[in-house]
Amino acid sequence: MHHFRYTADSLHCENVELAAVAQLYGTPTYVYSATTIADHYARLKQSLDGLDVEICYATKANSNLAVLRLLSGLGAGFDFVSGGEIRRALAAGADIQKSVFAGVGKTEAEIKLALENGMYALHVESEPELARINHVAGKLGVKAPIAVRINPDVDAQTHAKVTTGRSDNKFGIPIKHAAAAYEACSKFKNIRIRGVQMHIGSQITETGPFVDAVQRIVPLAAELKAKYGIEYLSIGGGLGIVYREALASGSQAWWDAQPAAKRPLTPEAYGAALTPLLQPLGLKILVEPGRFLVGNAGALLARVEYLKRGLTKNFLILDAAMNDLVRPAMYESYHEIVPLQRDTTRRALVADIVGPVCESSDCFAKDRQLQELGEGEFVAILSAGAYGFSMASRYNARLLPAEVMVRGGAFELVNARESFERVIEGEKIPTFLV
Ligand SMILES: *Cc1c(COP(=O)(O)O)cnc(C)c1O
Repeated sequence: MHHFRYTADSLHCENVELAAVAQLYGTPTYVYSATTIADHYARLKQSLDGLDVEICYATKANSNLAVLRLLSGLGAGFDFVSGGEIRRALAAGADIQKSVFAGVGKTEAEIKLALENGMYALHVESEPELARINHVAGKLGVKAPIAVRINPDVDAQTHAKVTTGRSDNKFGIPIKHAAAAYEACSKFKNIRIRGVQMHIGSQITETGPFVDAVQRIVPLAAELKAKYGIEYLSIGGGLGIVYREALASGSQAWWDAQPAAKRPLTPEAYGAALTPLLQPLGLKILVEPGRFLVGNAGALLARVEYLKRGLTKNFLILDAAMNDLVRPAMYESYHEIVPLQRDTTRRALVADIVGPVCESSDCFAKDRQLQELGEGEFVAILSAGAYGFSMASRYNARLLPAEVMVRGGAFELVNARESFERVIEGEKIPTFLV
């Protein structure tokens, strides 16, 4: 569910007409619905009601300061994967004492930053990393709270590039080595064992893989509680969202009309499947959703530059490109694309919807049907709130897009479009070329 819908054939985010946002701030521009994010947070929290649960938002999905501030205000902790993300949360005024720090390559400086700011726990992925955390903690004169990331070896049934819980990828420690890994932790003087963690992948659209993974980790968590007195189990993130019928899925009626067997994952189904498995542990449960909280809460607004009619194909060329939203190029992912001004009297157009970047993979949609559109009209690429701006680049010397947040009838720029001057600020011509 989300708050993007047509009112009088004009696409709105909450009570804001998106054409007005596009006119005022130009395009490409990301728009985020604060109410959608808040609703998703509340629903997930509610669906895990029977547990002592902490939601740690996976910052990498969207690390705009306004998004972090909003979630922090709702009571969320954070799941970080870099020092940059930790600094963003601090800059947003968030308290990170409910937050965790994951990632396979933590540097000394990042570990120091985490420990100095009272991070709830560091999620450890290897023995050399553990030794480094112990060393940094020793220098600071603190005990570093940790959990080991365990790889439960389940297939999340998702895209190969976003699966993380298989024994053949770089994340975590195989579950059969878990006992030895904790034994190793217990020998380090400056390490405090606080929990256990897992994360099996992203965009998971059924409860099965989560149930499998939880069933595998629960006996281990119980053992670690008995042996080391751990206080929490983090079950990671990965809850999938609707991409294909994104617009329609904004209404409850759409969800009610889905046959039970085809209904996409809901937080209620997730909670109902996992709560009974987790409750008997008597541990605090951390959940680390990224995409679920922000994915359907964001859209990328773009302007049509040209309609190019080819011999065998039409191309609708936008001013947004793969550098702004890389998911279609990187994961072949589907995004619904709709006009900001709907006109049902127009003829249909079938076209590849592309950006101006010089790569064939700079294509948002192939052979997509939508109403005929021409130069200067606007479209919205839906479900772009997660892994959109946070993965954006400057390829082709393009400027990073603007970001806007909406709540109710209010909207504000929360990140100005990058200026060319700022981009080249740190560059210089070497003296030997002058
Ligand atoms: C990326 C990531 C998440 C969030 O994944 P989503 O699919 O966006 O929910 C959670 N935990 C860890 C450790 C991650 O790396």
